[in-house]
Formats: sequence, structure tokens, C-alpha cells
Amino acid sequence: MRVTNVKTQDIRFPTSKDNLGSDAVHVDCDYSATYVTIETEDVNLKGIGLTFTIGKGNDLCCKSIEYFKEFILEKEIEEIEKELGIIWEKVTNHSQLRWVGPQKGVTHLAAAAFLNGIWDLISKYHKKPLWRYVIDLETYELLDKLSFSYIDDVITKKEAAEIIDQKKQNLPSNKDELNSTIFPAYTTAAGWLGYSDDKMKDLIKVNLKKGWTHFKMKVGQDIERDIHRCKLVRELIGKENKLMVDSNQVWSVNQTIDSISRLKEFDIMFYEEPTSPDDIIGFRKIKDAHPDVKLATGEMIQNKVIFKQFIENKSLDYCQIDSCRIASINEILPVLLIASKFNTPVIPHAGGIGLCEYVQHLNLINKFIITNNDLFLSEYAESCSEHFDNPAIIKDGGYLTPTNPGYSVKIKDSSLREFDYNEGTYWN
Ligand SMILES: [Mg+2]
Repeated sequence: MRVTNVKTQDIRFPTSKDNLGSDAVHVDCDYSATYVTIETEDVNLKGIGLTFTIGKGNDLCCKSIEYFKEFILEKEIEEIEKELGIIWEKVTNHSQLRWVGPQKGVTHLAAAAFLNGIWDLISKYHKKPLWRYVIDLETYELLDKLSFSYIDDVITKKEAAEIIDQKKQNLPSNKDELNSTIFPAYTTAAGWLGYSDDKMKDLIKVNLKKGWTHFKMKVGQDIERDIHRCKLVRELIGKENKLMVDSNQVWSVNQTIDSISRLKEFDIMFYEEPTSPDDIIGFRKIKDAHPDVKLATGEMIQNKVIFKQFIENKSLDYCQIDSCRIASINEILPVLLIASKFNTPVIPHAGGIGLCEYVQHLNLINKFIITNNDLFLSEYAESCSEHFDNPAIIKDGGYLTPTNPGYSVKIKDSSLREFDYNEGTYWN
């Protein structure tokens, strides 16, 4: 079965109208997807991939993908599957394109969309949900598809194989038993910074009724307002439920240390992205100033090399892997393996467009064949789920296991027709 075409679409949803996704620095998000369709000789078999952006710049990701098409066009799916590790290198280490990276920024987001599409295609070809395809692979076959470049000082392929083989011993002989897993989640949906107190309070009440026990809210525009909002939320959710805050990189290291001193009284489970996502040493200084608090970061960590340093340096307490910022399964699994080696809990970033659909697979892969840590938690925000053919499903505050073949991010044809930024009816 040959790949016959790779199509890219710039899809944008006008979510800024409702302040959806608003935080201390991203005040007008139009949730967007760089949307890739890999067509094959079989009209019913298409690989769908995306990366998530928040509006302008989505076009740059689409443009970058044009340069990757040659690596899979006219190739057989079996050949692509066998050479996935090599294709990853060609895409992320392109002899000319790497100058505008390397392995970071626009071209890396584009690589994520493209490679996510390939993983979707291959798992659909095998008629399995992505998570199941990955855990069914022989360990050596899986490792062959992953990239261990620049990380052998922290984890080798041999160590990775040992971690996976050890975990696989605990899998049930009938793997269909895994289909009934519910993976615990927390909600971000109530605490966007642009929401009024009343809207936030109403949403917290609704979400408490739905069974949520972990809540995250945005902070960082004004510390007095942050304190006011934390007080409101803590009163509503009580002492027994968990509260996390996210300031989306707005503070300096010293401002973070001061802000944490002010917010500590609200018993915060973790402080997310307090400062620059590149500041490995700065995060450590914050932790040294407040040894009793926990820091979380990862949604804007640009590649596995930075993750390696954050984890080894104990600059983060919770590893918030992102499914669309680093270059797909090939790069995400090595980070999960490093986290496993250092017993660091992984709480993936989600929300946006398609991130919930993606992390439901990553959570299961991590749980079943990688981590030995006993904390299982994943972000959920119901944003834009109405546009997906098979959105992630939440029950009792957790993700239900996806059982349809593929990597789950097919956007409805009607939504594509409406919200294509170049040709869609909404934007024209
Ligand atoms: Mg965040």
C-alpha cells in the first residue's frame, strides 16, 4: 500500500471570542491545528496528524511540512514503518532546514504534525489504536523507531530495553483486558484567566458535580487578583481536592520566588511554568528557595535534550510532556524513559486542539510499558472536542481507553470545510 499524497491544511477556530485558553501571556488564543492528511492507494486509509498552535504562525508550520513530503511520497507503508527512525532523522536533522532549528521552534512543531500523521497511518494499517500498536511491538522494533541522539549520557538503548522488558512482564496475557482502563485526569476548563469570578465559580461547581477532584487555574497577571481567585476556588473545592496553578512563563525567577511565598497558603499541588521554559538552572533556584513546593513544566520544552537536563538536574517535579511540540512518539518515548529512570511522575499537557486525544494514548503507553512511578494523572480541557470524529471521552474524572484504530485526531469534515483559514466558509 503506497502513500500517494500529503495534504496540509491551516485550520483555525475563533476561540479568542470566548477567552478560551486565555492565560497570563496568551491573551487572544485562536485554537489552531496544522492538519496533515497522508493519502494512500486505499481511499479509506489515511494518516491524520496535527500540531497545535494558537493562530498566527500556523501557516509557517504548514509551509515547513512541504519540505518533509519527499521522505514518504510513493513509499510503501511497510517500508515507512521499517524506516521510521531514519525518517525521523531526515525530518529533524535536514541538512539545510536544521539551520532554522535545529529540533526546536516552527520546524519541530511541523515535524510533530507530520510524524504524528505517520504513526496514525501505521497504527490504522495494523487496525490498532496507537497505544496498542506501540505496546504490541517487540521491544527492539520499538526502540529502533525512537531517537536516542544526544541523550546517551543519561539513558542508553540498553537501559531503555531493560525498563520496557521489565514492565512488559506485568502485562496481562490477554491484552484486551487493558481496554477497560480509566486514566485519572485533572481539569483546566474552569480557570482561564479571562473568565470573570462568577463564570469561574459556576464552572468549578459544575465540574465538582461531574466528579472532578483536581483543578488547575491560571495566575500571573496580578498577584492580588491571583490571591483573590485562589481563595475563591479553594473555598469551593474544599481542602480535600487538589489545586494547581499555572502562570505560563510570565514571572522572572525572583518574581516566582516572591509569588510562591504569597500563594503557598492555598496548598498548591504544583506551580506550572512559572518562568522561562528554557531556564533549567532558574527552575532549580526556585526549588532551592522553596524546597517544599513542586514545579511542573514541559508543554514548551522544545526537545528531549532540554527535558534530559530538567529531569537529571531535578529542576522539575512533574514532567508535562506535550504531544505536538516535540517530534512525536519517536522523541516522546525517550523522554518518558528518562522520567522512568529518575522516577519522575509524568502529567502530560493537554487541551488545545487534539492534545487530549493524543495524550490518552501516551498515558497508556507510559503506564503499561514505561513508568514505575505510581502517580497517574493527566490534564483535560474540553476545548474544541465537538470538532472531532472520535473525541477523548471522560468518565468519573478520567480518560476512557480509546479503542478505535489510529491516533484519534480526525477532525470532522464539516469543521474542516468551515474553519480552513484559507478556504473555509467561516474565514471568507
Ligand atoms: Mg500550562
